Amino acid sequence: MEAETKSCQNCQRDFVIEPEDFNFYEKISGSASGGKVPAPTWCPECRMTRRMASVNAWSLFYRNCDKCGKRTLSMYPPSQKIIVYCSPCWWADDWDGAEYAMDYDPSRPFLEQLKELSNKTSYPALEVALPTLKNCDYCNSLGYSKNCILAIWADNCENVYFSSILNGAKDTADSLRIFGSELCYESIGQRKCYRCFYSQECDDCSEVWFSRNCYGCMNCVGCVNLRGSSYKIFNVQYTREDYLKKLKELKLNTCSGINTLKKEAEIFWQKFPYRSFTGDTFNLNVTGEYVYKSKNSKEMYIASHTEDCKWCQFITFKPVENCMDYSGWGNGAELIYESINIGSSSNIKFSAYCWSNSINVEYGFWCITGKNNFGCVNLKRKSYCILNKEYLKEEYKILKEKIIEDMKKNPYVDSGGRAWPYGEFFQPGFSKFAYNNSNAHKFFPKTKEEALKGGYAWNDEEEKQAEATISGKDLPETIAKVDESILKEIISCTTCDRKYKIASLEFDLLRKMNLPLPARCLKCREKSRFDKLQKPGLYDRECMKCADPIRTSYAPERTEIVYCVKCYQQEFA
Ligand SMILES: [Zn+2]
Ligand SMILES: [Zn+2]
Ligand SMILES: [Zn+2]
Ligand SMILES: [Zn+2]
Repeated sequence: MEAETKSCQNCQRDFVIEPEDFNFYEKISGSASGGKVPAPTWCPECRMTRRMASVNAWSLFYRNCDKCGKRTLSMYPPSQKIIVYCSPCWWADDWDGAEYAMDYDPSRPFLEQLKELSNKTSYPALEVALPTLKNCDYCNSLGYSKNCILAIWADNCENVYFSSILNGAKDTADSLRIFGSELCYESIGQRKCYRCFYSQECDDCSEVWFSRNCYGCMNCVGCVNLRGSSYKIFNVQYTREDYLKKLKELKLNTCSGINTLKKEAEIFWQKFPYRSFTGDTFNLNVTGEYVYKSKNSKEMYIASHTEDCKWCQFITFKPVENCMDYSGWGNGAELIYESINIGSSSNIKFSAYCWSNSINVEYGFWCITGKNNFGCVNLKRKSYCILNKEYLKEEYKILKEKIIEDMKKNPYVDSGGRAWPYGEFFQPGFSKFAYNNSNAHKFFPKTKEEALKGGYAWNDEEEKQAEATISGKDLPETIAKVDESILKEIISCTTCDRKYKIASLEFDLLRKMNLPLPARCLKCREKSRFDKLQKPGLYDRECMKCADPIRTSYAPERTEIVYCVKCYQQEFA
């Protein structure tokens, strides 16, 4: 097969399908002629956006369970007219989704019928692996964890408050992309760290403040690109005694001390080179951003322990092999294509929210622990189902072949004229989330007009705001001056109009770390963290030291000094 240039059906930009891509489509094709996976008609970025618009980790609302009536935290706002069950009701054994079975009607496009089914089945309020959780009622996209509040897109966590994209975080709050670390606060991209505050992209560090890209450091403040250092402030060496004296003067337990240092550090960091992409030395033949311990994996974004993958994102649970266009999360996922929020499953295509040992699923949406299902929604522990209706193995094979043939001849066509023959992810209108509530909006923000034009829904509902009892700017300078009565206060954000409260888990963590209370609301804090992340998508440019070509997430117009991995390692080894 030779490389082929195509024009994206969605954005009309050209994109290239490489010979290795064709090999992958061949590899994941069914043995029967009907199941041959065609090359995609949307470009990689449009495909990623389309997938991410069908899931929602971060926009949470309260609504009542449609089964038991209890108030529950939910991914769906009350205005979303679908059936939503609280987690215990959804996971209960008294229903499995076969109740909604539909017969296939060959005279109508299959995806239209699938959408009908999707509008009448029961959805879980939250995406949680309930049997693996303890005391984590207010979390989403979570598994194997205990005592967490607002831990989102996380596994193996304990005592975590308001943090996301995590694996193995403990006693951590207000952080993003934390792996195997403990006692982190307001930090991003920490791996194997202990007591790291207001820092970014540090590995194997402890007692580190306002530092970025440090490795194996201890007791450092405001440092950048250091290896195995101790007692440094803004990269200047101090004796232990002088360091401790200086540390006291910096008043890191006060709001004013922290705000001053935060500003100084960010200016200082800018003067030093950035690695063309953040990752470790265990990568082999990879391109992407935030890639660790991976092999033969291209155009990746936030991924570790992957092999033979391309265009994958949010791989936070190892390992993952042989996947393409796959957006999370891993845990032994294999041969996954054009799918999102799939874990511990294999041979999954054009699907979302399928996990816990799902095998051979196509067009599945919320298919849990099932084998050989095609076009099913909110179905648990079932096999050989089409539109949630169970068939004998042979019947299933014949009908599936027929549907694939029908999809090619009579594809679903949306109001914008875009066609969905067999072999692509669901149409935007299939998503049960408004674009601005979906994960896509976090990484590829759109205006309401743009979203609607793209076929997505929009949610204009305003959150109800309680009256504030105290202003964020009147919070005490140190945590020592606050007692538990603060948990009752409704605080107004110093940046926007939203109100927020301090959770008891948050208060305990801040006391343990001797850090002041946050003066901004949850939304503002979260936004600041996501704004600091490099976005998916890579650019071709030159290393600013040796001029070798690099593939990097830093756009050419960015002001940072960007080095190729080799130059960066030579200078900061
Ligand atoms: Zn496109
Ligand atoms: Zn319920
Ligand atoms: Zn705010
Ligand atoms: Zn270079």
